[in-house]
Amino acid sequence: MRIRTDRWLQEIYRTMNFRFFDGRLQLPAIRVTFASAKEMGKCDGMFVRSKGEIKIHKDFAKHESMCVITLLHEMCHLAIHENGYMGADPTDDHYMLFYNEIARLWRLGAYETILIIPLILTLLLFKGIC
Ligand SMILES: [Zn+2]
Repeated sequence: MRIRTDRWLQEIYRTMNFRFFDGRLQLPAIRVTFASAKEMGKCDGMFVRSKGEIKIHKDFAKHESMCVITLLHEMCHLAIHENGYMGADPTDDHYMLFYNEIARLWRLGAYETILIIPLILTLLLFKGIC
């Protein structure tokens, strides 16, 4: 199992930014890194507005799909933040526009290559077809 690095994470950020956000998210101003369990607490991912950082839990470095799913989640927070929308409740960033961004990514097929293709391969391998 390959362990992914901050550099890989940054490249995924760059790719997802151009593929699903028309390259409009801050780049390279946003720092994307893996962070320790101590830093992350109970969070899998974190967008730190004040520092311009996206952090992904270090445990995900062994799980490529989880990294990408979490990164896309944090990029949705960033996209909404860059639009200037703050939401009605400053203690909760998961408001209507956030879910609209997630739905937009679904419609664009962002999760198909992450979730469906590995699932198909797993099923094929499990059945011994490959
Ligand atoms: Zn979130």
